[in-house]
Amino acid sequence: MATLLIRNARLLVTMDAQRREIAGGGVFARDNVIESVGPSAELPAHADVIIDARDQVVFPGLVNTHHHMYQSLTRVVRPAQDCELFRWLRTLYPIWARLTPEMARISTQTAMAELLLSGCTTSSDHLYLFPNGVRLDDTLEAAQDVGMRFHAARGAMSVGESAGGLPPDSVVEDEAAILKDSQRVIERWHDPRRLAMQRIVVAPCSPFSVSRELMRDAALLAREHGVSLHTHLAENDFDIDYTREKFNCTPAEYAEQLGWVGPDVWHAHCVKLDASGIALFARTGTGVAHCPGSNMRLASGIAPIRAMRDSGVPVSIAVDGCASNDSGHMLGELRLALLLQRVGAGMARGPAHGPGAMTARDALEMATLGGARVLGRDDIGALGVGMAADIVSVGLNQIGLAGAGHDPLAALLFCHVPRVTHSVV
Ligand code: ZN
Repeated sequence: MATLLIRNARLLVTMDAQRREIAGGGVFARDNVIESVGPSAELPAHADVIIDARDQVVFPGLVNTHHHMYQSLTRVVRPAQDCELFRWLRTLYPIWARLTPEMARISTQTAMAELLLSGCTTSSDHLYLFPNGVRLDDTLEAAQDVGMRFHAARGAMSVGESAGGLPPDSVVEDEAAILKDSQRVIERWHDPRRLAMQRIVVAPCSPFSVSRELMRDAALLAREHGVSLHTHLAENDFDIDYTREKFNCTPAEYAEQLGWVGPDVWHAHCVKLDASGIALFARTGTGVAHCPGSNMRLASGIAPIRAMRDSGVPVSIAVDGCASNDSGHMLGELRLALLLQRVGAGMARGPAHGPGAMTARDALEMATLGGARVLGRDDIGALGVGMAADIVSVGLNQIGLAGAGHDPLAALLFCHVPRVTHSVV
C-alpha cells in the first residue's frame, strides 16, 4: 500500500502535544508514515486505501510493554487458577518445560492476533524459557508473518532450585550461553532505526531466577549494543522478602546496584515499589509496565500508579502473560487500570485513592505515549506528522457502546469493547 486515508472520524484522538481530539478528523499516510492529521476537509481527497470512519473513534495504536506470549497455550490451567505468584510459577514451570519451537510460533501468533483485535499495534514479549530447541527467532519470525511491531525481550533464568532459585534446574540456562545468545539475536534482529518493526531487549527474568552477576553483565551487554533492558521487579510481598533475604536490600536498591535504572530500562509490575524506589525511578527515568489484570489474578496487590505518575515515573500498561491474566485484551487492560487505581493505590490514604486517581485520558496516555516512552520510541504512541501510521478504530454502533456518544474516547475504556474495527500497523 502506498497511501492510506482515514477520514470523517466521529472523533480522532491524536495524543499529540496539544492532546487534540478532532470531531470529523482524519489521517493521511504514505508508505506507512503519517503525512497529515486534521479535519477531513483539509486532507488529500484520494488515496490507494480509503476508510470512512464516520461511526468510529480513531486513536493511536496501543503499546503493550509486557507479555509472555508462549503462555497463550496455558490459560486457566486448573491447579494454577488460585495461586499467588510463587506457587503459580512452581505449578506451571514443568508444563512450560515442554514448550517446542512450533508452540512458540503458534502462541506468539495467537497472542498477537488477540492484541491486534483489541487495539494494540506494538508489543513487547518476554520469553525466558528455551527448552527443546526453542529460540527467540521463532517468535520474531512469527511476528514478521503477523506484521505486528515487535520488541522481543531475550529473557533468561540461570538460578535453579538447587542453587536457591525458584525454577526447577531443568529450565535454567548457563549464564555464558545466555549472554552469547543475547548478543547473537541483537546482531541478527535488532533494528535501531526509526519506524523499526523489530527490536531486541535484554531481559533476565527476575531476582529469584537469575544471579546478580547475570543482571550486571546483561546491563553491560545491552548498553554496549544500545538496546533496552527489561525484567520483573517488586511484584508481590514474597518477591520483596526474597530480595531482602538473598540480597539484603529492596528491589529498587537491587536494581540500582546492578545498573538497572535509566531511560533504557523498564520493569514489569512494581506493585510493591516503595517511596524511595518511586523517587529513584522518577529521578533516573526508569520505566514501569503496569499489569493490573495479572496483579489482581495473582492477588499481588495494587501498584501505586497514581503516585508514580505524580512523581514523574514513565508508566505504561501491559497485559502480562495469558497464564496470569488469561485475556490478552489490550483495551480491556486499560479498563482494569482505570478502575483498579480508583480502589486504592496500596499507599496511605490521600489523592492516590478515589474516583480521581485515574481518568480515561490518563489510562489512554499511559498505553500510548507512556508505552512509546518506556520502549524508547519517538515514532509511535501519537498521530502526528512523521509518526508511524499505527492507527486503530472502534465502531460506536455496537450494543455495548449504545448511549456512550457523550464522550466517545472515554467510552473505549469505561465500556467493554469486544473487538476493534480496524488495526493498522
Ligand atoms: Zn511477567
